[in-house]
Amino acid sequence: MQKTVLSKLSKDELIDFITSAGEKKFRAEQIFSWIWAKNAGNFDEMTDIKKEFRTFLKENCTILDSKIKTRQISKDGTIKYLIEFNDGNCAETVLMRFDNRSNLSMCVSSQIGCKMGCKFCATGKNGFKRNLMPHEIVSQILHAQIDTGLKITNVVFMGQGEPLDNFENVQKALELINKNLQISIRRITISTCGLVPKIIDLSKNNLLPTLAISLHAPRHELRKEIMPIENKYTVKELHDALKEYNNATKDRITIEYILIGNFNDTQECAKELIEYLKDIKCNINLIPYNPVEGDKFKKPEKNNILKFKYLLEAAGKKVTIRLERGADIDAACGQLAGKIKNLS
Ligand code: SF4
Repeated sequence: MQKTVLSKLSKDELIDFITSAGEKKFRAEQIFSWIWAKNAGNFDEMTDIKKEFRTFLKENCTILDSKIKTRQISKDGTIKYLIEFNDGNCAETVLMRFDNRSNLSMCVSSQIGCKMGCKFCATGKNGFKRNLMPHEIVSQILHAQIDTGLKITNVVFMGQGEPLDNFENVQKALELINKNLQISIRRITISTCGLVPKIIDLSKNNLLPTLAISLHAPRHELRKEIMPIENKYTVKELHDALKEYNNATKDRITIEYILIGNFNDTQECAKELIEYLKDIKCNINLIPYNPVEGDKFKKPEKNNILKFKYLLEAAGKKVTIRLERGADIDAACGQLAGKIKNLS
């Protein structure tokens, strides 16, 4: 008999399940709180549930239907987990803590692999296997919370996969993260390479997460060299969608810009970027390129990074240079390859 996966259920579904097993509604609420607020990894930890009912739960249910396959801890405290789902597929998820901040951020994957094929990305090189289900996305956060005993405060969809290419499941996962894990929608970021119609759909959603755009080049000809999505939706169309998202949320969009040496780190690119973003309410996150084994792109020179930042700031833009986290365990941006070839 297949066991019922309790983390798949909404609160109402859990109440229905528990009451139809002969228990009171408050019992369902206790179990809900153990799973979503108190990081219970097994039923024996649910000490206020009577023993006989815990035995019923052990025999008929499971909290999660995935497991931590490997765990790597970086010198800077970043933890990278490889999560194995019940069909044997694996995805990586990364827990990051930043010094002097109480925030604990989880970078989650939304797909096994990715169809988008961005040239600078390790995940893109491995192709696409399947979408992750809503509970599989959320399980990445639950595993990290159970493993560390800590409460995640921020979630970014920047792991493997293009979240807007798995729109319905990601929408449901947003609800679970917001309602069940009680993480404010503003602390959830969806990062996309620019699926224009889906950005417009998202702008009409009840829950409006922070939007991050992998822009990486301000000009069509340059962007299409590194991002095949540019052949489908151009930077011009993307610009219009960003304006629409700005109007819907009134919040700043995060513009992600990987600085690749001698490619898009020139003063000319900085000026084009300023022009492109002049009417977009945004923060710009510069990400010095991390070399991935066997590719042709280079790290940018430190001097060019600083010049680029200076030009944007002089034009009134808010700019940060992303701290490199977990580079020693391949957890830095663009390095989440999922190792799907080796492990599945
Ligand atoms: S950068 Fe994102 S969208 Fe592009 S291939 Fe990698 S995972 Fe997919």
